[in-house]
Amino acid sequence: MEDTQRLPLADIEKIQNEKLRYMLSLCARGSTFYQMQWRDAGIDIADIQTVEDLAKLPLTQKQELMEAPEDFRLDLPDLPLHERALWEVLYTTGSTADPVPLYSNTYDYHAYLHQSQCVAEISGIRETDIIANLFPLTPAPMGAFVRSAGNAYAAGATIFAALPGGAFGPFDVHRSLDQAVDRVEKHRATILWGVPSYIRRLLIRALELKADLSSVRMCAITGEATSPALREDIRRCLREMGAEQPLIFNRYGSTELGAFAQCQEEGDWHNPAPELQYHEIVDPETGHRLPDGERGALAVTHLDKRGTALIRFVVGDIVSIDRSPCSHCGRTSERIVGPVVRTKDLIKVKGMLINPDVLLDVLESISSIAEFQVVVQNENKNDPLSMDEMLIRVALHENAPEHIEKEITQQTHKAVNVTPRVEVTALEEIYSAGEQTKAVRFVDRRVSADNAIR
Ligand SMILES: [Zn+2]
Repeated sequence: MEDTQRLPLADIEKIQNEKLRYMLSLCARGSTFYQMQWRDAGIDIADIQTVEDLAKLPLTQKQELMEAPEDFRLDLPDLPLHERALWEVLYTTGSTADPVPLYSNTYDYHAYLHQSQCVAEISGIRETDIIANLFPLTPAPMGAFVRSAGNAYAAGATIFAALPGGAFGPFDVHRSLDQAVDRVEKHRATILWGVPSYIRRLLIRALELKADLSSVRMCAITGEATSPALREDIRRCLREMGAEQPLIFNRYGSTELGAFAQCQEEGDWHNPAPELQYHEIVDPETGHRLPDGERGALAVTHLDKRGTALIRFVVGDIVSIDRSPCSHCGRTSERIVGPVVRTKDLIKVKGMLINPDVLLDVLESISSIAEFQVVVQNENKNDPLSMDEMLIRVALHENAPEHIEKEITQQTHKAVNVTPRVEVTALEEIYSAGEQTKAVRFVDRRVSADNAIR
């Protein structure tokens, strides 16, 4: 396939328009959800000819996908086998409700391999790389774990899995942190592929164990918000281990979106395969498309799917889009510009609307904090009507200064206008029992349900 990422924007859109018309015709024939949505909205889908016209269609909300995931799955018995055979089911990480199944047919798996090839090319993953998959096994198959193999296959690289995480089920397949360190060392991994807080924890443990992880040249992180301070701390650990110029590839994506790629550290995220997906920024309330450069809700339209197909699906992230050629690499496909704010993560505490990422940034930049957790709860846990309380639990490094609690309180107040209560605790307390892979950084224990924006 030709490299669409370097075509003039008008040529990219021409390809997208052709794909879109065919995709919409498949949905009109085989998608229960879109048949109903378009009928209810009085839309003749033949009127939608271009990505520009997409703005006339209603948005698809995550709630709608959660309520009836089967209705988004194309049912087209006349398609050739590879377009209709089910290859895999992945589940999205719903924050509260049950995870939602997303269906990929053989055709979609090939498309994902193609997208991964483009991601590898943009972000510099090579055939000679040895990738350590550090994602945990989860009760339902998650894209992050399952797709790591596809990413390696696409790049022609080698991959192995460390299988960390809290054990469940009768089979003894999970491995401890020390075993993960050992495996990374033994295989001379060049890329650590996982959740940033776990990668950092693994590196800190490797330093304690004096393991030789000098082979690692890149960490591909995803699954949690990170601050520049946390990313720099990961680099610091790697440098201490002898890695010369460790890179952090901050992967942005989701099960519905697939992965976007950075062509340079801390850069914007390129759409690696514009022939597969179209992106727009919308006002989440009205559905109106917003101009390039303006921040709003990211909506994705699948242009070439055969399993679960989504049209104008609101991903739940606030970002902006830049359609000018990249000043770093010259690619012409659009870029997602951060900061990425996950709308479901915005919360109200003591009447203040808080972006947890801002608080994360602040806490991560305090060097004497080893790990932390922010808990929002009712001041009196037996009284659901009592005031909100923000509790910041911290595990400290040995050399932490005496008045660190005061500093944490002041910095937090400065960042989010809420005065927290600070509690010093042990590291193990923050990694909840059995779940060793991910520090849960934000916990909302309040009884009332209307804290989240949506
Ligand atoms: Zn670029």
